[in-house]
Amino acid sequence: MNIAMIGAGYVGLVSGACFSDFGYQVVCVDADEAKIRELKAGRVPFFEPRLTELVAANASAGRLSFTSDIGEAVRRADVVFIAVGTPSRRGDGHADLSFVFAAAHEIAVAISDYTVIVIKSTVPVGTGDRVEDIIRQVNPSALFSVVSNPEFLREGAAIEDFKRPDRVVVGAPDQRSRAIMERLYRPLSLNRAPVLFTDRRSSEIIKYASNAFLATKITFINEMADLCERAGANVQQVAIGMGLDRRIGAKFLHAGPGYGGSCFPKDVEALIKSGRDYDASLRIAQTVALVNDERKHAMGRKVIKACGGVVKNQTIAVLGLAFKPNTDDMREAPAITIIRSLLDAGAKVRAYDPVAMDNARRVLDGVDYAKDVDHCVKGADAVVLVTEWDMFRAIDPAKLKQLLKAPVVVDLRNVFRPEDMEKAGLAYVSVGR
Ligand code: NAD
Repeated sequence: MNIAMIGAGYVGLVSGACFSDFGYQVVCVDADEAKIRELKAGRVPFFEPRLTELVAANASAGRLSFTSDIGEAVRRADVVFIAVGTPSRRGDGHADLSFVFAAAHEIAVAISDYTVIVIKSTVPVGTGDRVEDIIRQVNPSALFSVVSNPEFLREGAAIEDFKRPDRVVVGAPDQRSRAIMERLYRPLSLNRAPVLFTDRRSSEIIKYASNAFLATKITFINEMADLCERAGANVQQVAIGMGLDRRIGAKFLHAGPGYGGSCFPKDVEALIKSGRDYDASLRIAQTVALVNDERKHAMGRKVIKACGGVVKNQTIAVLGLAFKPNTDDMREAPAITIIRSLLDAGAKVRAYDPVAMDNARRVLDGVDYAKDVDHCVKGADAVVLVTEWDMFRAIDPAKLKQLLKAPVVVDLRNVFRPEDMEKAGLAYVSVGR
């Protein structure tokens, strides 16, 4: 089976590399020629554990290649995936579908034999119909089906998630495309991954509903953390007690500074907009978006309060910038809002992240970037842990006390044990404990 993957970003490159690892012939296409040059030279343009090795192994085996010539790739393909970005349209929260529609135009021009066109990008309900219309208009004689196959992988664990997913969702409009999708995902069915076939619109909604539900879980436990702080309870114990109920489950019940990243914020917004478009008011999703947005600002205030209410001319060390560990992705990272609040209040911010500092420099001005944890923390008036990289778990509280000018530690991920920090003489503030 020949696959063309349009868009060689996180999702396209990971999916393309994994499909080629299953033995399929995959061509990854990207409009960004610099990205294609990097990939041809064996360099993966973002951080994802084990991806460079997977790409190299399959490229050298001749199963994975890269091009910016979409026509060539589509003509040869049995299955064409659309895995381009669907960012939030500035100002109105709708998903910007211009990249998806541009790809659909280019595919339409190049289709030769019957082709399955699979939308892997996260797109609002009804987008499959619109892509079908575009292709029919541009190339009325084309033989094709448009399938929805949303992606659920997580950055930082993307390869494992792709190869051992909780489920694969396929919204296929006819038997012919369904049979091809069944064949395509056979390696995963053999690995016992459930492959769920639905109608196309349901598949489109499953993706948004899943992300909005997870965002709701995070936001819910964050509000419980606020209650625990005021009522003298411990949100970690509350989360364990809730999570043991199998109807609830323990995952996504970690209180913290609010969700961020390239998916949850924009997907919750886009779902709310779909609700408006179809006259279905999605009040839970609306509230989640509002509460989460407010939380990132509240975390800035929490840090300032821990520093005695004034941070003017104080140096605040920030550990962790990426929106979560094991990625260099800074999109909608809580660290951005928190650092901006501190800078606005007159603080000097010194930050360290093992992989996200290059991306952080593009979005955060006025920050001093340190080369390691010690240089970040040394002489600071307070340290704030924003992203729970494993390397931060090894920080010795006694050494931290020595390095800091003032012994203030704000742990927004509940990584440390309060008793250890207090024993070391640190003034320790965490979330919901
Ligand atoms: P990305 O920005 O990393 O990559 C998108 C790529 O598409 C870019 O390299 C861009 O140059 C390319 N592109 C845009 N238009 C093109 C065109 N017409 N032809 C060829 N290439 C084109 O985006 P991503 O993070 O991979 O996300 C892609 C989609 O998958 C989005 O809809 C996103 O919501 C969804 N998704 C992302 C994740 C994630 O963790 N990143 C997880 C699940 C789903």
